[in-house]
This record gives sequence, structure tokens and C-alpha cells, in this order.
Amino acid sequence: MKVLVVGTRNAKKRQEIIAALAGWPVEVLDLGSFPQAPEVIEDRDTFEGNAAKKATELAVALGHWVLGEDSGLVVPALNGAPGVWSARYAGHGQDDAANNAKLMREMAGKSDRRAHYVTVAAISNPAGEVVATVRGECHGAIVTEARGAGGFGYDPYFYLPEYHKTFGELSASVKQAISHRARALEKLKGLLPRITGLPASRQETASSSAP
Ligand code: IMP
Repeated sequence: MKVLVVGTRNAKKRQEIIAALAGWPVEVLDLGSFPQAPEVIEDRDTFEGNAAKKATELAVALGHWVLGEDSGLVVPALNGAPGVWSARYAGHGQDDAANNAKLMREMAGKSDRRAHYVTVAAISNPAGEVVATVRGECHGAIVTEARGAGGFGYDPYFYLPEYHKTFGELSASVKQAISHRARALEKLKGLLPRITGLPASRQETASSSAP
């Protein structure tokens, strides 16, 4: 693997993924370099299914290795919603503000405020075969009012008890260290030697000499 394409059009997610991949012994490109990339319809009912679909469809269309990522917020008191529908919780074409407003309506009066973010990342080879799938989770709780303007999506409402702050209040570097996305990509890093076929020592040399 020489080039890995990050298969997401969500600018904030893309930033976080590219930051987490820094130092990998591969050239990381995003869909901005591939205007012909098809739109992948996220119609699976699991994070794993959607991540694999994004990775494989884009890999075949582009002829490159692709990292497909699917993520969302899971709230047990809402039977797992918004879950895989997190981006479209308030309906197609709605924005983060509308999704958050719906979350607040649905959570009104709920005493169980627990929630966790999930990221599943899948890597497909150019033939459309998934060679690795990893999951990362980050557990917290939903607050009743927005706090902070950092991150994106549900972050101003997602509270981390250990930090006494929401992801909206925490710095990008702290989110980068502890988030569901960071945890998933850290696991992927451990699988790199198997994925690329390079021995672990070459990986380390390559990654430490990467610009
Ligand atoms: P996807 O593009 O289908 O994976 O949808 C991801 C959606 O989940 C985003 O649009 C957000 O609503 C939510 N989400 C995933 N990760 C995060 C995060 O790190 N912070 C806030 N919201 C997130």
C-alpha cells in the first residue's frame, strides 16, 4: 500500500482522521483529490456495514486502498438512537443544530443520560476486499444545554465525566487523544504490518522518517 484514500466528505471528520494518521508510512489523500468519486449510499443498519460499504465501493471506483469510516452517537435511553442515523437524525438535509435540537427533545425528562460515540473504520484493498475492521468507543453522558463550540455534531452535548467538560469545551488535541475515532485508528495502526505486508521494523523506520 503506497496511497490510502480517506473516504469521507465530512470535513471535520476528515481533519480528525488525517491528524490521527500522521506518521503512517503511506501517502494519505482525501476525496478532494478525486472529484469523480461516487456518492456512497449509507443504507446498512450497522456501523460495520456502512464502513465496509464506503471503503469497498470507493476502493473499486478509485483503484486505491480506501479507509471507510462510519460513526455516530448511541444513547441507551433512546434504544440506541441516533446510532447509524446520527448524521440524519432530524431528517435528510438537516444540520447539526437540528440533530441536537431533536436529541434535546427526545432526552427531555430522561434520568439515564449515558451515551457513547462509536467509530468503525474499515480498510479495503483496490479489489474491494475488506482487510481490516476496527471499532473505537468513547463513553460519556448527554448534558441538558450546549457547552463549548469545539468539535462538531453532538460534541457540545457530549460530556466526559473524567474531564468535567464536553467535547465542545475540550481542545482538539485532547479530543484527538481520547475520542472514539482516535481509539479506532490507534487499533488500525497496530494492524498495519499485516495490512501492508511490511515487517513491523520497516514500518517503524518508515513512519519515523515520514515528513
Ligand atoms: P457518518 O458520516 O454517517 O459516519 O455520520 C457521522 C455522524 O455522527 C456525524 O454527522 C455526527 O452527527 C455524529 N458524530 C460522529 N462522530 C462524531 C464526533 O466525533 N463528534 C460529534 N458528532 C459525531
